[in-house]
Amino acid sequence: MALEEYRAKRRFENTPEPPPGQIHSKTDSSGYFCVQRHDATRLHYDFRLEVDGVLKSWAIPKGPTLDPAVKHFAAHVEDHPLEYGGFEGNIPKGNYGAGSVMLWDRGTYELLGDAKAGEQLARGDFKFRLHGEKLNGDFAIVHMKGRGKGNEWLLIKKQDEFAVPGWDVEAHAYSALSGRTQEEIARNMPARKAKRKTAGAADRVWVSDRPAKRASKATSPIAAGKPAPVKKKRKSRPAA
Ligand code: MN
Repeated sequence: MALEEYRAKRRFENTPEPPPGQIHSKTDSSGYFCVQRHDATRLHYDFRLEVDGVLKSWAIPKGPTLDPAVKHFAAHVEDHPLEYGGFEGNIPKGNYGAGSVMLWDRGTYELLGDAKAGEQLARGDFKFRLHGEKLNGDFAIVHMKGRGKGNEWLLIKKQDEFAVPGWDVEAHAYSALSGRTQEEIARNMPARKAKRKTAGAADRVWVSDRPAKRASKATSPIAAGKPAPVKKKRKSRPAA
């Protein structure tokens, strides 16, 4: 599909980003989603949804939110290959998008409504339910037609049990893949915790930390960028 622009912008011998490969979609009523926190010329969040064999992508300067009262601007950008959905690392200077990339959230989405994903995108009103580590519940991404360059969309959280008024994306600025902060990724530091590439026991341990963190952002070691205190013995140490 439309990955020519993705290829044209990159020299794969000079960047760790993946070239388009052999991962293919399985279904058109659900798919992978991810959000990458990208510290490029300007910090932004790249929101990606698997549709028709590629990752449809939007750059969101303020990031996604769980607050239904806030509509965040999302610039529609070029499709990315499905392989990109697992990427975290550093794009070297001189390359397109140079800077550190955090895999901030990932999971699956379910398509809402009767129309196929491609049809919903074409008409500029795509409704879906996310099952991520940070983002959950119902969302819509809506094209603002007749505006500017034509790539202006809004990401909107719907009212449901996952809605959180006042939710602050920057209070969750750690990797869903490695637990690292943006700074730690930029410095190529090892993962903070043993994290698996698929949801599993390690992820559940991580998730169980969250109520306390949400209750007290100011003292959260993760939000403050400090090492997390070890409360109890782990069964195994992370392999660096
Ligand atoms: Mn980006």
